[in-house]
Amino acid sequence: MQKYDVVVIGAGLGGLQCAYILAKQGKKVCVLEQNRLIGGCIQTFTRKNTKFDTGFHYIGGLDEGQPLNRIFKYFDLMDLPWQKLDTNGFDEIIYQDKSYMLVNGYDNFCDKMTEYFPDSAAQLKSYTDFLRQVGEGIFESFDRDPEQNLAGETLLGKNAYNYLTSTISDPVLQNVLSGTSAKLELDKARLPLYTFAQINSSYIQSAYRIKGGGMLIAQSLAESIQKFGGEVIVNARVTNLVEEDGKISKVEIDGRDPVETRYVISNAHPAATLRLAQNSSFIKKIYKKRITSLENTFGMFTVNIKLKPGHLRYLNRNIYIHRGNDVWEEGNITADQQPQCVLVSFAAPQSGEYADNIDLLTPMLWSDVEKFVGSTPMNRCSEYNELKARKAIQLINIVNQYIPELKSSVESIYTSTPLTYHDYTATENGSAFGIIKDHDRLMYTLLTPKTPIPNLWLTGQNLNLHGILGVSMTSFFSCAEILGRRPSSNIFNL
Ligand SMILES: Cc1cc2nc3c(=O)[nH]c(=O)nc-3n(C[C@H](O)[C@H](O)[C@H](O)COP(=O)(O)OP(=O)(O)OC[C@H]3O[C@@H](n4cnc5c(N)ncnc54)[C@H](O)[C@@H]3O)c2cc1C
Repeated sequence: MQKYDVVVIGAGLGGLQCAYILAKQGKKVCVLEQNRLIGGCIQTFTRKNTKFDTGFHYIGGLDEGQPLNRIFKYFDLMDLPWQKLDTNGFDEIIYQDKSYMLVNGYDNFCDKMTEYFPDSAAQLKSYTDFLRQVGEGIFESFDRDPEQNLAGETLLGKNAYNYLTSTISDPVLQNVLSGTSAKLELDKARLPLYTFAQINSSYIQSAYRIKGGGMLIAQSLAESIQKFGGEVIVNARVTNLVEEDGKISKVEIDGRDPVETRYVISNAHPAATLRLAQNSSFIKKIYKKRITSLENTFGMFTVNIKLKPGHLRYLNRNIYIHRGNDVWEEGNITADQQPQCVLVSFAAPQSGEYADNIDLLTPMLWSDVEKFVGSTPMNRCSEYNELKARKAIQLINIVNQYIPELKSSVESIYTSTPLTYHDYTATENGSAFGIIKDHDRLMYTLLTPKTPIPNLWLTGQNLNLHGILGVSMTSFFSCAEILGRRPSSNIFNL
């Protein structure tokens, strides 16, 4: 039987990064991925020679010296074909039919917003200073006590909506500052201030797409893991964790021989991980109840559009179109209602000024597709297909009001729902951003990498902060546990 120091369940960003860190530290590592492709939510799929992204579309803080740049240098990812978005408008927010450009650089951001909202100058200055402090302080969380190594713990315990509405008086400005809402689930009652501030802050630093899709990140990590002597195996769904002598000793894999291991890191959802360890003597009822009762964020409905060549000019920015008056309520709509917000994301073309493809995204609830669970992507029923077709037309019609050449530029479309994520990336409830963290129930909703099983750790977006930045930070926290060290930035030479 093959023996490893560490088996990593899942080759999403978190799993691959953990394997990279540990393989680089000399551990014999094996990543087991249930899908035929690695990457999870950063995987790219190809239709008619066009590459579409599954989840991830753009990242923040990648300029020299900024947090993700430091992290990606560690992972040897800085030579990938990054495409910097327009610094004078990386995101455009359309709210009440007026356009607002979000610009890079904290001071520039503040100045630009003050042009739009001159009466809020002082409040914008405080808001921007606050975001700067949160963004620049991200590595401080590395040097905390391991029991409390949650990034920005104090701000995690505060409510984002209360902060925003108590520090910004103009309701229009409140909505514009929350306008990139599809990047996180805006939840008035629960969203921690840290999540809101860190995510918005990192994109104000700088914003980048990748030419060729997020899969390039996954492939680069997998190649490095192999270079360090590790293995990445696809079509390898972990089915059971076997416990012996007070720890996991063996990992069972669908249709393959089991493997022996000293440690396990799970990139799968914590509830899915528990199902793999259901016979464990360490998992008490109370822990199980806690993990299985945690709610997940909404999922996404996406229309991936292949464009006719030479028809639609590439826009080096994202557009967030809002149709409601309260962007904090836009995720709470059901499939029979009109979408309230759409994120328009152009894929960076390999060359030229015209776009090859474009994605339109809007939040979608699991309850809208849950009844179709059990069908496979190849045999979905007509009701499901009609739902997808209807939603696709709605999104295209909305976006066409702002990009009038869109409809005539469409060559073909592909759609996905939370059910697609459920089936392809084994995402619990097809959720876009994983477990909902509640500022008011932090100890309950925020998980650390530790589990009751002494040699099993968790990683990925469900723990701390979602998104590429959050998952990357968490990978270091998870690995520090195995390496038996405090997660200091020095030990990883960041
Ligand atoms: C539509 C959408 C848009 C997004 N846009 C952005 C963006 O623009 N910028 C950004 O920063 N973030 C974005 N995100 C969030 C970001 O993509 C995620 O936070 C991140 O990729 C999650 O990585 P992960 O490693 O935690 O999990 P995942 O990517 O979910 O990986 C988990 C992996 O585990 C595998 N797995 C599960 N169970 C098993 C098993 N039993 N055996 C073997 N393998 C298993 C799965 O197949 C999967 O590959 C977006 C997400 C979505 C859904």
